[in-house]
Amino acid sequence: MRMPIPHFIIKNRFQKRLDLYQNILTEDILTDVCRRITGRAEFTVAFDNTGYNKGRLAILEYQGNTSYISFSETENTGRNSSFQSFPSALVSYHRAGNLNKEIYFYFLPSEGNNETPYFIFMYRLMKTAGTILLNEDQYLENDITPFNSVSDLIAQRDLNRGRNRGNSSTYVTVDEDDTVQIFGKTYGASKYETTLLCLAIYEVNSKVELYEIGEGGLRELPELAREVIVSLGIRVITSDLVIERDQEEFENNDSLRSPTYIYNLLEKLGEKKCSLCDCEVPQIIQGAHIWPVASIKRLRDINQDAKLQSALDGNNGLWLCNNHHKLFDIDYLYINEEGVIKYKSTIPRGYEEYICGLTVKRQIPGNIMTANFLQYLEKRNIRLNENDYSLVR
Ligand SMILES: [Zn+2]
Repeated sequence: MRMPIPHFIIKNRFQKRLDLYQNILTEDILTDVCRRITGRAEFTVAFDNTGYNKGRLAILEYQGNTSYISFSETENTGRNSSFQSFPSALVSYHRAGNLNKEIYFYFLPSEGNNETPYFIFMYRLMKTAGTILLNEDQYLENDITPFNSVSDLIAQRDLNRGRNRGNSSTYVTVDEDDTVQIFGKTYGASKYETTLLCLAIYEVNSKVELYEIGEGGLRELPELAREVIVSLGIRVITSDLVIERDQEEFENNDSLRSPTYIYNLLEKLGEKKCSLCDCEVPQIIQGAHIWPVASIKRLRDINQDAKLQSALDGNNGLWLCNNHHKLFDIDYLYINEEGVIKYKSTIPRGYEEYICGLTVKRQIPGNIMTANFLQYLEKRNIRLNENDYSLVR
């Protein structure tokens, strides 16, 4: 009886160009892939000319095991294009019914730097999602480790964003119930990143919610990706449901934990971090309204939509920790129009020491104090007298 040999199945056609995969995945490349996965150098290959290749994917069958291998771009043209294919490969891998399977990523020779901070972040996400980087020994100098917690991932992403302001396509945060919330765009290149984030984060925390942030007609992730995400038990909340929740929250709850408000604050302020102290623990940080929801609701001269808009505006808020949120809500703390933080002078001395000790910041940063923010601040402060407050010391 002949020994079975490894067998590749590769969709040959590209979706958007005329080239064929058989021209890119040469004998040498496939031999290297085969040797690294199976330890054997001989193989057979079938290039399939039906349909097109999603995920720059080759499938290798050997001894009942199926390997999904996604290949890197050969033209390394920047952050958005370079990782568009991999999430599709990961989705195909998840959808495959067989249990004996692995997902791999293989570097093809390319121009440019493979190890920008963004690329390294993506490799770490891929590893977190269970991917083996098949020839990283040959292409990467950095040691790539998977994320071991969501806070690790958020911190790294925040650092990365600092260098590349404007990459604010998706957000990851944790709510007060310790549920990971992913605000993911469902269109353009961002939809691939949203998919990868979901599949990676699920591996380190099983309580995950995905809020789909749509645009125009594209309100949901591509069907196959969505199916996989839902099948893992991730709660997917579509744009319509987000709007319903916003309205429900607005009507029933003055502290408004609506998804749109959280998303707008993430867009304006970045990751959760108390504006009055150094607290960065997302489970005890909330969006705090400058112009309070209760005051907005009491207005008589504007309609419900306009009220909701003010309540959801990212300019109408700060991230505050639980303590600071409460102290701000009961007007023990005051922010004047220069952003200077003050405390109420008439409170008992014991409170004063505690509050001043807790409040390590002296001023709200200038970039937060936009014209809209100042309008909300004025509406808040109209009921208060600055002379009742002293500088935090
Ligand atoms: Zn605080």
